[in-house]
Amino acid sequence: MRRKKDKENLRDRTYQETYDGDYLDSRQYMVVAVSLFVTHSFMELFYIWTGCTPMVFINIASIMIYVLSALLISKGHQLVTVWLMEGEIFWHVIFACIFMGLRCGYQLWLFGTFSSIFLPFFIPNLSKRPKAAIGIYAVCIVVGFETLVLLDRHDLLPTEYQVGDKLASTLYYINAALGFISIMIYTSIYNQRMSAKNRELQYVADHDGLTGIFNRKKTQSILEAEIQRQKETTGERLAVAILDIDFFKKVNDTYGHQAGDEVLVAVTSCFRRYQEKGLLYGRWGGEEFLLISPETYSYEEFAELLNNLREDIQSLEISSEGQLIKVTASMGAADYEESLNLDKFIQRADERLYIAKESGRNRVVSK
Ligand code: GH3
Ligand code: MG
Ligand code: MG
Repeated sequence: MRRKKDKENLRDRTYQETYDGDYLDSRQYMVVAVSLFVTHSFMELFYIWTGCTPMVFINIASIMIYVLSALLISKGHQLVTVWLMEGEIFWHVIFACIFMGLRCGYQLWLFGTFSSIFLPFFIPNLSKRPKAAIGIYAVCIVVGFETLVLLDRHDLLPTEYQVGDKLASTLYYINAALGFISIMIYTSIYNQRMSAKNRELQYVADHDGLTGIFNRKKTQSILEAEIQRQKETTGERLAVAILDIDFFKKVNDTYGHQAGDEVLVAVTSCFRRYQEKGLLYGRWGGEEFLLISPETYSYEEFAELLNNLREDIQSLEISSEGQLIKVTASMGAADYEESLNLDKFIQRADERLYIAKESGRNRVVSK
């Protein structure tokens, strides 16, 4: 029992780590580390100029953190680096508020920092520990902000390093702008990642993993849309065909499943040649494909295209592990009629496919 649980945990961890690493793009973090290093270098001059000695030393620590961060990122330790940089921003803001007062607006950075936690937080399957750490960090930001406001209201912050009114208000404007900019940057990175992930998932949801062409679900939705379009427009003809590879089981039995897969890929490569003519197609099931006629084709032209395709498949010479494999395919086609719904439409093509098989295979039956 114990062993089984350990194994499950190991599995959890293995897949979890992949997910945890997902949201870290080392190039983007390197850009962040280098830009913050440059920013803090200028800030060093600023703190020296204003004579805020504690911040001069705190800022040296900040600069060193960014040097360390860049080194760690280059060695692939992004997760640690993220925490280092987040910690630096948090503590720098806290100390700057303590020594320079809230009039300079450093506390506004905390809003930007807070929005940064949404980057990793919403990544699905992020393991519990980083999730908890992010939660604690979020609480620290809120508590830190409220505490600073409280201390300021009760005049409990030191005043000896505070800058003049004019400089303080200029700093307030700058920090407010930077706070907004950081929110914008974090949000757009988050959006970019989510859209990229969504595109990736959409691709996987619509395509067949083996052949790379549309899968059944996507093909069906295309056909539904085409039927709808057909109902709304006049003059265009819609037709479908079901293509089934002949004696495919035999290919698997004789040459192996791997060779069978190669045959499936080779057959779909024949479809691609007709793609620019407007042929739509997808994998309907095992060794069956659904073909949707190009919109400008008459039914007769579509039948001719199918026959050409049949000849292309027949002349394929597929070599797998030194063996030459030849295949043929049978097709049943159907012309769209108003009275047909999607299922009946396909059923008609399927019935004709059956006739093609029964009458000797390697043929197209369209009537
Ligand atoms: P028919 O000419 O009547 O269509 O005969 P067939 O052997 O092609 O048809 P049958 O339905 O008996 O066998 C289809 C085979 O296709 C059975 C199944 O193992 C195989 N198959 C389905 N999907 C895949 C796949 O993704 N890869 C491989 N290699 N084989 C597959
Ligand atoms: Mg079949
Ligand atoms: Mg077959």
